[in-house]
Amino acid sequence: MKILVINAGSSSLKYQLIDLDHSSVIAKGICERIGIPGSMISYKSAKGDKYEKQQDMKNHEDAIAMVLEVLADPEIGVIKNMSEIDAVGHRVLHGGEKLYDPILIDDEVLKAIEDCIPLGPLHNPANLMGIRGCMAVMPGVPMVAVFDTGWGMAMEKSHYMYALPYEAYENYKVRRYGFHGTSHRYVTGRALELLGNPNAKVITCHLGNGSSVSCSKAGKCVDTSMGLTPLEGLPMGTRCGSIDPAIMPFLMDKTGMTAKEMDTYMNKKSGMLGISGISSDFRDLGAAAEKGDERAKLALDMFVYAVKKYIGSYAAALNGADAIVFTAGVGENDREVRADILRDMEYMGIVADFDYNMTCPRGEEVCISKPESKVKIFVIPTDEEMTIARDTARLVAK
Ligand code: AMP
Repeated sequence: MKILVINAGSSSLKYQLIDLDHSSVIAKGICERIGIPGSMISYKSAKGDKYEKQQDMKNHEDAIAMVLEVLADPEIGVIKNMSEIDAVGHRVLHGGEKLYDPILIDDEVLKAIEDCIPLGPLHNPANLMGIRGCMAVMPGVPMVAVFDTGWGMAMEKSHYMYALPYEAYENYKVRRYGFHGTSHRYVTGRALELLGNPNAKVITCHLGNGSSVSCSKAGKCVDTSMGLTPLEGLPMGTRCGSIDPAIMPFLMDKTGMTAKEMDTYMNKKSGMLGISGISSDFRDLGAAAEKGDERAKLALDMFVYAVKKYIGSYAAALNGADAIVFTAGVGENDREVRADILRDMEYMGIVADFDYNMTCPRGEEVCISKPESKVKIFVIPTDEEMTIARDTARLVAK
């Protein structure tokens, strides 16, 4: 079965064609600058063919048409024609409280995704453009939506409510939703398999440009660090994460920033970039800190401290953990950050293998705790696209 997985942004569209019979990616790429002069498509197949072309793409429909054209290209393509694609899986950011499990898309689902635009104002409209573009170019092909917020829907009410007047929840659905759900779900599932215990308690650290920590019991989310929006929780590449909420009116009063400007300040100018003044990229920060840059070191120290606090608080919430998982760009690759997080965690029964942490292979599932460690520490490469493809196939098979 071949599934096309689509992750549509407002001016970009990432795609992967997945062969589920072999659990392999046949081809993938990205369309960029959709609707902006200079749009281009890039493509890479598992056979090693690569392709990049500047091509006018007015909208997402044009982009999907381009994707199908290159996938079926007689020379570098990987399929004969579109009919080889059995279904399309779409990553959708926000499903609100009504949409959580992966679902076959029909008019009612489209309307429900639209209803969630106030909760995901940047992403949901883009996701919808991707879905509608696909529907226009691939009529009759089943489409499935997989929600980034789905994982968090298993949380208990006392875990997802904010202590604001109750009407904020009733009138505006202000609550914790959590994001990176497909990633937390995937790596949690892998951890349960590696542990051989479907009921285990697992803390998952998705550490990338955007970062979140989540915890679960028996594969069901108990808590997660992102909230109503992906701004809450850890400090991130350019996001401030959790701060005293009173800072917002304080700074708006002092600087005259509007609510929108404040939002940009917290989402785009803060975090690792804001503290270091250098970069949001952990590689740049590591290099700068090594050369003695104090603010780069401060940014990294703040990040590590925040992850440690989440792990500790989630261990308390779960009454102990069986495993901690590191995943995403930083979690999978940044050995120093992992080591700093794992230092001085013996109180939890963690005995990290710091030597192996520095030498273990990249891109593979590895265990970086010592055999005597009560809590297993795994590094598990995340695979959101494969998860979306499997969800899609499961629903289409029904
Ligand atoms: P993601 O959002 O999951 O793609 O992760 C992006 C982040 O991962 C960026 O901050 C990168 O600096 C970081 N990253 C990727 N590769 C490495 C690496 N080899 N060492 C340290 N950080 C890395």
